[in-house]
Amino acid sequence: MTARILNGNQIRDQIYTELQSQIEDLVRMGIRPGLAAVLVGNNPASKLYVKSKIAACEKLGLHSELHTPPATWTTEQLLGLIADLNHRNEVDGILVQMPLPPQMDSKKILEAVDPAKDVDGFHPYNVGKLVAGRPNLVACTPLGVMEILRRSEIPIEGANAVVMGRSDIVGKPMALLLMHSNATVTVCHSKTRNLPEVVRRGDIVIAAMGRAAMVTPDYIRPGATVIDVGQIVVTDAVQAERIFANFPERLAKFREKGTILVGDVHPDVVNVAGALTPVPGGVGPLTIALLMSNTVKAARLRRSSAAPKPAPAATAERASGH
Ligand code: NAP
Repeated sequence: MTARILNGNQIRDQIYTELQSQIEDLVRMGIRPGLAAVLVGNNPASKLYVKSKIAACEKLGLHSELHTPPATWTTEQLLGLIADLNHRNEVDGILVQMPLPPQMDSKKILEAVDPAKDVDGFHPYNVGKLVAGRPNLVACTPLGVMEILRRSEIPIEGANAVVMGRSDIVGKPMALLLMHSNATVTVCHSKTRNLPEVVRRGDIVIAAMGRAAMVTPDYIRPGATVIDVGQIVVTDAVQAERIFANFPERLAKFREKGTILVGDVHPDVVNVAGALTPVPGGVGPLTIALLMSNTVKAARLRRSSAAPKPAPAATAERASGH
């Protein structure tokens, strides 16, 4: 069996086409949705991610702005910037690129973002809404996975779904979205016993661990749908030769560049799975597409609401239960 390849670039393009018409409608109403990205310091990977996010805004005609405070800023200084962005009407979404420098209190920063502008879906208020089955703004990568599954007509209701990884940004929201779509969900992590056996129960397997090619064909039940969230840059030649032993073209690319992007799923899984997302070109493109979608959603929800809005601090206070 050779798996159907679920092409994330095509699905991203569909989503962009749909978003474009929604954005045009909003612009006709005098609303141009806007995203503010905050990039602290000089982390090269973070710079690249933020650049792609701003480029996506420009492609879709969204207002975007980039704030680049130095790595020496304190938590208080960054809180000041967030407060300013919270209060500016032309900013619908605020994205604080992680990781922050070690002296900064990342949780405090993320909780300072107005939940109505929390387009990453990381604020405890939005996490709570998701847990309660009344999702507002949800983390982009798991939302992207749901778009892949739905648009590829993979049956979710009643399916056994196995999520490998339990991080706040991928594994946990992923499990909740699948559960709310009526899958029977198992969440695995580094302490799970008999991992291959547990994963083999999955009709749908979501791998989100950050372990290069760990999910080998023996983990996968023949015909299962496998979604590979992992993104690991491999530079070690021995590791690359081992992973891509059956894929000479990929190996040739590695030899040319000295680096290759690998998922959590071993490429040989293509011979067992029924459907599979590639790396690159699977889940990756969807994450930015769903960030754009969340920004448009935030603009619609926030600016069309006639009701007076609670001040961000009050909202955060209520959300944290104090
Ligand atoms: P993370 O915070 O490091 O979490 C990794 C999770 O995997 C943890 O829950 C960990 O278990 C589990 N895990 C690690 N090793 C394991 C093992 N050997 N067996 C079973 N479980 C194991 O990572 P993350 O932020 O969720 O990201 C995961 C991967 O997705 C990374 O490669 C990241 O680059 C990628 N990612 C991709 C996108 C995208 O746009 N495509 C977006 C976000 C993340 P414990 O909880 O027990 O430690």
